[in-house]
Amino acid sequence: MLTWLEQNCGKTYGNFIGGEWTASEGGTVPIYHAARRSQVLGYFPNSTEADVNRAVEAAHAAFPAWAATPAPERTAILMKFADLLERDQEELAYRLSAEQGKTLSEARGEVLRAARETRFAAGEALRIAGDTLPGERGRTSIRTLRQPIGVVAAIAPWNFPVITPVRKISPALAYGCTVVFKPATATPWATVRLMELYAKAGVPAGVVNLVIGSGSKIGDALVSHPLVAGISFTGSTAQGLRIQRLAAGRLARTQLELGGKNPAVVLDYADLEHAARQIVSAAFTCSGQRCTAISRVIVLRERAEALKESLLAEIAKIKVGPAWDPEATMGPLINQAQMDAVLEYIRIGKEEGARLLTGGEVLRDGIYAEGCYVTPALFDRVTPEMRIAREEIFGPVLCVLEAEDAEDALRMANDTDYGLAAAVFTDRLADAEDFAGRLRSGMVHINHGTASAVHAPFGGVKMSGYGPYSIGRSNLEFFTEMKVVYVQY
Ligand code: NAP
Repeated sequence: MLTWLEQNCGKTYGNFIGGEWTASEGGTVPIYHAARRSQVLGYFPNSTEADVNRAVEAAHAAFPAWAATPAPERTAILMKFADLLERDQEELAYRLSAEQGKTLSEARGEVLRAARETRFAAGEALRIAGDTLPGERGRTSIRTLRQPIGVVAAIAPWNFPVITPVRKISPALAYGCTVVFKPATATPWATVRLMELYAKAGVPAGVVNLVIGSGSKIGDALVSHPLVAGISFTGSTAQGLRIQRLAAGRLARTQLELGGKNPAVVLDYADLEHAARQIVSAAFTCSGQRCTAISRVIVLRERAEALKESLLAEIAKIKVGPAWDPEATMGPLINQAQMDAVLEYIRIGKEEGARLLTGGEVLRDGIYAEGCYVTPALFDRVTPEMRIAREEIFGPVLCVLEAEDAEDALRMANDTDYGLAAAVFTDRLADAEDFAGRLRSGMVHINHGTASAVHAPFGGVKMSGYGPYSIGRSNLEFFTEMKVVYVQY
């Protein structure tokens, strides 16, 4: 990885508009290696509103022909793209590990998952079905059609630089939409390669476009552009609310995937070691910088000590290190700002009276000198009103809360503004069903962590999301609009 980086970093990149790589009049900004802050990975556009306008116009011009492209052709192109992701998995993994910080094994997993999600989306292009209804009178019929909405603006955060763009772009193309994609400022490098691979797979010029730049500078122009029919956004709840307000002003549709404060509830469950393995993996993958990261463990009081022991044993197995260290199982945080935010929450947790059982230390020496490394932290004596129990930390911090009984645990689990993913560990079928029904959460995982599947709907309720869920069949509701056709013959 390091040799590949030495040979490939430091280049200047443009935006991908209408099938061409074009420089922005806003110039470029450097992006640095997350685990080697002195290494410039590349220089990327600091785009302007003019770049956004050009990209939207290119996507708009490409839309009629792409929407009319037979579905089997769209499927074949996306299948080819999935093959290319697999072919180039190593290079993509290097790029995304370098810009984001995650370990190479996580990065490879992300690329392969993007290929699997693309194959599911490619198949969906062939299943865009409607209904046929009898007419009210003789010699009449009624049918419903699903048609692509047009240009989709796709905006992603920095934690999954390959899967998030692909999760938006591949289904959009499958349903016949065209796309303008804006990555997070911190992670544009893997996306550049994704554009090359979409083009190589046969996606025509203008069907997918890339504009790299700061959200605060170009976000509003993209979201508010009158030719943008829908906005698929993944990011913080604060930005999601802002985008929703702008989109509502002109009835543009939205698919918002936002923050989480995801609980794992542990009830009468015999295999606490299994529960701890699942919880620790879901809490600390991507250094906890995952919307579906488990950040609260809610355990029956009488099981708390035993579970904490198992959690501590699992956490002790985590090896913090840079992506190129084959032993590393958890990478650095993406940058100093994110580390400062996480350390502030650790300070707040202590001040609020929670007990830090392990972790929360900054590693600075040797291989750690050039990255933002914080060891995985476990707090106990956490109570529901504490900020560390209520606010999204987006880092390697796990809190343990104790409940009197299952009803108390359910109340605590639901006592948050968010409702993205939840896990419940129980050997009692009645509790499993009860929690599946009464948890206010978009996704409920019974007896395993919060890992999602490549073909099931993915999304949240309350302040965790809005609009049709992504990944699964639910995408049809976002990327297509319904038309009802009446025929008299
Ligand atoms: P963020 O600050 O909301 O940024 C997300 C994206 O929005 C970035 O591309 C950002 O660009 C862009 N943006 C900023 N201002 C904008 C504006 N005015 N208009 C349009 N776009 C704008 O989120 P983040 O810190 O990158 O990511 C962490 C958050 O994402 C967490 O809350 C996490 O839970 C959430 N997340 C949710 C899911 C899910 O599926 N529910 C998945 C992953 C992450 P810049 O980078 O240029 O600022």
